[in-house]
Amino acid sequence: MRSWKIASISGIDIELHWTTLLFIISLIILSPISAIVLTLLFIIISLHELSHSIVAKRRGIDVRRIVLLPIGGMAVMEESNLKPEDEFYMAFAGPAFNFIFAGIVLLFVQLLGLPIYSMHTWDLMMNGKINIEWLGFIVSNLFWLNWLLGAFNLFIPAIPMDGGRVLRAFLAMTMDYSKATRIAGYVSKFLIAFMLMFSIFTFNIILFLIAIFLWIGASAEVEQAMNTHLVSMINMKNLIKKRAPKISQKILVKKALETMLKKNTTQLFVGDNIHFVTVEDLVNANKNDYVMNYARIARPIEITRPDVMINSFMAQNAEILPVKINDEIVGFIYLDDLTRAMKLAKMLYA
Ligand code: ZN
Repeated sequence: MRSWKIASISGIDIELHWTTLLFIISLIILSPISAIVLTLLFIIISLHELSHSIVAKRRGIDVRRIVLLPIGGMAVMEESNLKPEDEFYMAFAGPAFNFIFAGIVLLFVQLLGLPIYSMHTWDLMMNGKINIEWLGFIVSNLFWLNWLLGAFNLFIPAIPMDGGRVLRAFLAMTMDYSKATRIAGYVSKFLIAFMLMFSIFTFNIILFLIAIFLWIGASAEVEQAMNTHLVSMINMKNLIKKRAPKISQKILVKKALETMLKKNTTQLFVGDNIHFVTVEDLVNANKNDYVMNYARIARPIEITRPDVMINSFMAQNAEILPVKINDEIVGFIYLDDLTRAMKLAKMLYA
């Protein structure tokens, strides 16, 4: 995911993703007028995302950067459990900015006596069928793009659009967060399915692609919200064990297997808190060899979403992994403990 920083506002970096750059460059070659419209759109999207981010920062949520993708903007924020009021104001800020911007453009147009082209003339202009006044063209675009972006985001209550987040925040004020997320998820998928069917009946390929993208976005976001919520319900600090079964480096494989049997474990750390062997690693080992020859190096895990943590165990084929908090190893997590806690939390809260 290569992207370039193009601006930095209020300590938030705005980055252009390479696919977006490619998209704009190809449009400049194919249709310069569309490229102008698209550039204006990306400026407006940046400001829209920036509005979300500034409200987030005000409410103490860390925003790292805004990445401009061909399908829109994405503010990268720290993963945390949002309070419903925070989510409400954050989601509302983007469309609110667009409506205010559209209003200011309208005022400007009135004062200077500029024309506002309808979207139909816009179409003709794009195809070069009529002559246009450039300043009028720019302000018309600024007006329509802001209006469309604000309305599309706010009035369709489907996650991942802002309207969907506003809906979830509303629901979460009166009910459990996971229930609110689930209901908002159903509403989103219903609306997106409707959009998908509409696009098929009207042969609208762009709407079809947007709907597919929204469906994927909605699924991923609902799932992630549920996961983050589950993690907050589990006392992760309780899962962290101070110690893990350990043996010295100069031990033979035979002795290591005996230790595993005695301590009823399938994994031992060798010499330190990083090198380890599992019973699987020793299946074909020479029993009179040093166990150190079969040791592997563990990549410590961080407390994040449970699916990410479980993936890390799977990828390393490990049962116990060192845990890192703020770049410091603070103890160990056992895969068994993690899956048991997840199962219980799901039974209770999902
Ligand atoms: Zn938004």
